[in-house]
Amino acid sequence: MDLFPLFLKLQGRACLVVGAGKVAEGKIESLVRCGASVRVVAPAATAGVRKTAENGRIVWEQRSFSPADLAGVFLVIAATPFPDLHEQIFQQARRDGILCNAVDEPERCDFYYPAVLRRGPLQIAVSTAGRAPLIAQRLRQELELQFGPEYGPWIEAAGQARDELMARNISPEKRREVLAELSSEHAFRNFRNGNAAPVHQESELAGGKVYFVGAGPGDPELLTRKAWKILGAAEVVLHDALVRSEILRLAPPAAVISDVGKRCGQKSIRQEEIHALLIGYAREGRIVVRLQGGDPLIFGRAGEEVTALRDAGIDFEIVPGVTAASAAAAAAGIPLTYRRLASKLIFLSAHRRHADHTAVKSTPAAETRAGKTAGNEVTDHWKSLPAADATLAIYMPGSDYGRLAHDLFKAGWAGDTPCLVVSQASTPHQSIARMDLGSLAHATALPAPALVIVGEVVTEAGIAIGREPADLAAEPVGTSK
Ligand code: SAH
Repeated sequence: MDLFPLFLKLQGRACLVVGAGKVAEGKIESLVRCGASVRVVAPAATAGVRKTAENGRIVWEQRSFSPADLAGVFLVIAATPFPDLHEQIFQQARRDGILCNAVDEPERCDFYYPAVLRRGPLQIAVSTAGRAPLIAQRLRQELELQFGPEYGPWIEAAGQARDELMARNISPEKRREVLAELSSEHAFRNFRNGNAAPVHQESELAGGKVYFVGAGPGDPELLTRKAWKILGAAEVVLHDALVRSEILRLAPPAAVISDVGKRCGQKSIRQEEIHALLIGYAREGRIVVRLQGGDPLIFGRAGEEVTALRDAGIDFEIVPGVTAASAAAAAAGIPLTYRRLASKLIFLSAHRRHADHTAVKSTPAAETRAGKTAGNEVTDHWKSLPAADATLAIYMPGSDYGRLAHDLFKAGWAGDTPCLVVSQASTPHQSIARMDLGSLAHATALPAPALVIVGEVVTEAGIAIGREPADLAAEPVGTSK
């Protein structure tokens, strides 16, 4: 049997809720939000329901249900643990022509609660006729990603423009034409780009807080759902140089977006200045996103930044991302660990401009230790690496692969050890070159950002070995999406 979909106006209508537990509380809230005149009958109530009653938003009668309660009611919700009582309410409601919903009892429902996505005046409701509520929830979450918070103000603005248009004396054809333009994808994009209105009104995210968000390796589809949501509500975005513009575009047009990235060879913003910006914006009560390529906890400066926020008493949250090593391995179709070939995985940085970059894993403690190392000790750091049964994921390889290969030889890695260079993993410019360490020593660098993977796992890559340095420079082997 088909359900008839409709959106009801409940403003001022008498609605009765029988029961005042946790489940009832949610139903009461949704009725109140629509302006219904809500009466609740229940011997006991949750703190939330009591508070709503104290605030005068509903009337709570602290007693059991009696049949007289249904007099004059438009809609009733039965939310108690007693099926017999629900049956009594449902039968009486049916006789009196009152719409009834007994929670979780489809046979005693005239209507169901759909899963709803709200964006201001826009509501998208999903129903499975009570058959599979979890599927409805999942679809709602998918719609949430597709129709971001900016749809609320857009539809509001389009509505206003429509009202103005209707008041003008123009031909129906012209009016239709303008309305079609107002509703188009193109108009939506323009609105997004020029809209100065805050679009996080419906967000439950806290202001005055810093969100460390992993932007992933490049492909926006590799963002987590949480990263997506937080970016969509950001008021300030401080990002590093690796974050691609497709991802920055997910922030509201009105957000302050600032590149605080550190690039080799360029004068860059000092770390203390970044701390001051994070603290300053958070103290203004803004939703601050510290957006970093890959995972913010790997070769980022999250360690120092978190410490600075803690010292300043600023609230923060960390949202992990897909790190470059994972994306590079995925691009090449190889595992990073493999029972037969590598039981250890080491993330390291080859960047040697400052000794403190050569930390294995970027924990604050490791960086402090490495910070004390200098000169020859940098090479000692390489010597401490295992030379077998391990995979090295080398971040920031720089452009001097000869130097890198040399350090690995000194650390005991053989010239015929297979390795991969993956450039711009997960982006449309991705390229992959496979060779051995002997060839790496003479190879020309691939475009940054690139990552080098060293170890026997590389033999799992089903792509040809480039022996000559020229192969690597002229024709990177591998895929490009
Ligand atoms: N936090 C980041 C790493 C920052 S260090 C993460 O977790 O991925 C910067 C280095 O990451 C680059 O020099 C490069 O080695 C690597 N990198 C970042 N994005 C990459 C990509 N899309 N492809 C290959 N390497 C990448």
